Amino acid sequence: MSRIVISPDNCKGCELCVSACPQQILGMGKQINSKGYFYAEVVEPMRCIGCRLCCITCPDVAIEMEVHGTMYHYFAY
Ligand code: SF4
Ligand code: SF4
Repeated sequence: MSRIVISPDNCKGCELCVSACPQQILGMGKQINSKGYFYAEVVEPMRCIGCRLCCITCPDVAIEMEVHGTMYHYFAY
């Protein structure tokens, strides 16, 4: 089982992850982060298929994925 973790303060509200998700389970929240942006949230986590498209798409590396207890942080060079 995979779990998506979005870091609110790293999000700039571009909505690219929302468009990328084939399951359409990401959405923009109603809270504002420390930079003044509405940030992305996982709306229906149980329907996530673990495809990682959201992690790969995010230009600000704000999305991590936990798989069987291991956290994968993509492109954080
Ligand atoms: S891993 Fe895939 S299905 Fe899950 S939230 Fe990201 S884009 Fe959507
Ligand atoms: S792609 Fe990244 S920066 Fe853009 S809304 Fe999603 S989490 Fe935020």
